[in-house]
Amino acid sequence: MAAAPVIVVGAGIGGLAAAIALTRAGRRVLTLERAEKIEEVGAGLQISPNAGRVLQEFGLSPALEKIALEPHALDIRRAADGATLARLPLAAARSRWGAPFRVFHRADLQNALLEKALSLGATVRTGVRCSGFSQDEDGVRLIVHSESGEETLDAEAVIGADGLRSSIRSGLRLCENDEPIDLGLTAWRALFPIETAPASLRERATHLWLGPGAHIVHYPLRDASIVSAVAIIEGATAPAESLNGEELARAIGFERWNADLRALIEAAPAWRRWPLFGRPELVRWSRGRVTLLGDAAHPMTPFLAQGAAQAIEDAAALGRAFEPGGQSVEAALDAYQAARTQRAIKIQRGSRRQGFYFHMSGPAAVARDLAIRALGGAGMLARNAWLYR
Ligand SMILES: Cc1cc2nc3c(=O)[nH]c(=O)nc-3n(C[C@H](O)[C@H](O)[C@H](O)COP(=O)(O)OP(=O)(O)OC[C@H]3O[C@@H](n4cnc5c(N)ncnc54)[C@H](O)[C@@H]3O)c2cc1C
Repeated sequence: MAAAPVIVVGAGIGGLAAAIALTRAGRRVLTLERAEKIEEVGAGLQISPNAGRVLQEFGLSPALEKIALEPHALDIRRAADGATLARLPLAAARSRWGAPFRVFHRADLQNALLEKALSLGATVRTGVRCSGFSQDEDGVRLIVHSESGEETLDAEAVIGADGLRSSIRSGLRLCENDEPIDLGLTAWRALFPIETAPASLRERATHLWLGPGAHIVHYPLRDASIVSAVAIIEGATAPAESLNGEELARAIGFERWNADLRALIEAAPAWRRWPLFGRPELVRWSRGRVTLLGDAAHPMTPFLAQGAAQAIEDAAALGRAFEPGGQSVEAALDAYQAARTQRAIKIQRGSRRQGFYFHMSGPAAVARDLAIRALGGAGMLARNAWLYR
């Protein structure tokens, strides 16, 4: 009888990256996804060089060439008057950190990861929801539900890559009061044709606009035919699931701000609401043969654009821990956890701090803007070099 597979729960970016890393390390991998179809939300995703290097190591470079756009700069601008505070030279990243800054349509990256995982021999089952598990020194029994009812699957190990509301995390009981926490922040996301955006905002660059209690990031995607934009705003903003551009501008008071930015917001026919949640920091992710990966382990605010990047880094560390060498599954998961928890916590905290910095108002915002100008684009990029190395 074949050995039980490693089961990855969740086929998001983290789960698929884990499936690739584990099959590359020689494991038999089964990935289970509760959705009937593997599809990401319609939105953009920035992947920084630290995660880009991992994707390259996974052999994805040819696929990335086809689907990624490489912005040559990141412009930091003041939302009120449009003043450029700094222009970060992103184009140098490939030679400096071994991979460029890339932006993707999320669905394109997820498809590329899925194809790679399947080509390496991983199995992916959709329409399968995991609800719990039990384990002993011989293995894990995972309880799953699908159209054909409830079944129990045997696993050599289980990787909970099932996102912020992870059921595997709940089953692990790693800390007290481990419920999702409402962060009091709302993200509004939009994708729209680039020709509807103001001409001054169509270049192959990422734009970051800072305003009091809110910021907006936008960049072109694919062949620069569409714009991905996300506005992150303190508070609930509006109860609607979707707002048109004029409604969003009114809801966040952006109508008083820079005319090009306002035109960009109004160009999107529909902004979709995404309330942001967190969970307590974890110093342990594993118990025995069960561990966590990605948002299930370390959900983070999007201010450093590192959530998916860290899930990809987790996958690489997991693959390394499972490389043939004779150590037990428990020891491999301990090694994985030891390699990852400190960096994940540092980035969770750094990301929260970045949020305060982005959303400053009054004299604090004036001081921040002076500091950004004094540092300049190269200095601002160097400030985050610890992330990208
Ligand atoms: C507004 C916003 C902007 C962002 N921008 C960036 C960015 O630019 N760069 C970046 O790196 N990160 C970014 N992030 C963070 C990033 O989106 C997440 O960190 C990343 O998608 C997490 O991936 P994951 O695979 O861990 O979890 P998820 O994407 O949540 O995937 C979990 C999967 O598990 C499945 N699942 C859940 N429960 C079960 C179950 N019980 N059984 C079976 N399957 C289950 C789900 O259906 C899902 O497919 C952003 C986040 C937000 C909110």
